[in-house]
Amino acid sequence: MAQTEQEHWSKVRGRLRAELGEDVYSSWFARMELEGLESGTARLSVPTRFLKSWIQSHYAEKLLACWQTEQNKVNRVELIVRSAVLRNATIKVKEVDGATRLNGFEGRPISASDAGAHEALGGSPLDARLTFDSFVVGRSNTLAHAAAKQVAAAKRGDAVMFNPLYIHSGVGLGKTHLLQAITWTGNAIGERKVLYLTAEKFVYGFVQSLRAQNTLAFKEALRGIGVLVIDDLQFLQGKSTQAEFCHTLNALIDAGRQVVIAADRPPSDLESLDDRVRSRLAGGLVVEIGGLGEELRLEILKARVAAARLHHPGFDVPAPVLSYIAKTVTHNGRDLEGALNRLLAHSKLTGQSVTLEMAEREVRDLIRPQEPKRVKIEDIQRIVARQYNVSRSDLLSSRRTANVVRPRQVAMYLAKTLTLRSLPEIGRRFGGRDHTTVLHAVRKIEGLVGSDMALAEEIEILKRQLQE
Ligand code: ADP
Ligand code: MG
Repeated sequence: MAQTEQEHWSKVRGRLRAELGEDVYSSWFARMELEGLESGTARLSVPTRFLKSWIQSHYAEKLLACWQTEQNKVNRVELIVRSAVLRNATIKVKEVDGATRLNGFEGRPISASDAGAHEALGGSPLDARLTFDSFVVGRSNTLAHAAAKQVAAAKRGDAVMFNPLYIHSGVGLGKTHLLQAITWTGNAIGERKVLYLTAEKFVYGFVQSLRAQNTLAFKEALRGIGVLVIDDLQFLQGKSTQAEFCHTLNALIDAGRQVVIAADRPPSDLESLDDRVRSRLAGGLVVEIGGLGEELRLEILKARVAAARLHHPGFDVPAPVLSYIAKTVTHNGRDLEGALNRLLAHSKLTGQSVTLEMAEREVRDLIRPQEPKRVKIEDIQRIVARQYNVSRSDLLSSRRTANVVRPRQVAMYLAKTLTLRSLPEIGRRFGGRDHTTVLHAVRKIEGLVGSDMALAEEIEILKRQLQE
């Protein structure tokens, strides 16, 4: 392809980035490539069908407009899927600015009979609160949320765009929430039956009951299900279960049924699964949900308080308390919920209104200690030298007078305890000393701090200075 075409394309990218913002750009366009430009048509490729359809329905006009501003001979943009990578698309969720709460679905509201119908199918119990309406969209879950919505809204007979949809993340970041939202919404729309199963339920209920019958019954049962949703796949264990799972997965995918899976790790890390299953899992759309940022945590808390107020009208959490919790309770969505539940319980039981002081007391154990700051060896040497009134080169020198030996040992000890550097590395950084010398220094100081209170205190002060 001509050099200049790529140059034009790179200018178009620049325009897209400027007009849509860095976050939107990197979510949807970062992996778009120019395949060619012929008779007014720019051919662009993306790695997945999902991206293609998303961009087509949301950004087609913008894309064309940006091309035309750059090169007015372009009058059409064609999007294609790069087939070679389609089978192995892993998209890491890119950031989209801020937290946006999206509207719920059209269609009838979710009812108790939906839950009944779902359980009659043999599904795992659903939590009525876990819907798209209550899911807060932010930078870390944009793509997972968009993909989930797409699956939930797809019609019978629609081409399946990514199969399976595989969502993974650490604990408490919203996988189960999204999976159940798909189930509620899909069943409420009523186009396709959605069955939600935990991996355990899949094993002990579904597969076994199917296994007991004949293959015809098995196929019949599958025919009834449009979307199979399996949560916590990492718990799927045992050779024969996996074989059964693999069989089901293949049968469903080949029959054009949608499969949605959540797990706490990407397919490649599901060590106990056999290669065929793993590659089948990686062959659809793999989306990671990232950690909840502070902004998103705050939005989730606000949504939660609003929901709680429906049942407890007197319950209110002042804004400073919400920001305090959002700032300090950083693990995951479950802890946020836990924090609010405690405040709710406390204020109900005591009749007091929620205050910052109450919050500080109630959520203390949910607060993760601040990540220790990364300390550099140079800083240790500088601060120790200043403390003991010697120069940094004294510490690195081979001088063995008492006034430098002790500070040097202290500095090596701090280097070992405050950094992840190995003994040989520390030795090198202290004027090329042997690792046994470092070890000796570390042991020496360790021994002394137990008995020498003054030294112990000096070291505490040094540590504090270094970690500020
Ligand atoms: P996972 O299955 O990934 O471990 P869950 O879906 O069970 O996590 O989420 C844990 C809690 O956090 C749930 O109460 C869930 O509703 C809440 N949560 C997580 N992410 C969000 C979000 N984006 N919006 C609203 N609530 C969320
Ligand atoms: Mg879960």
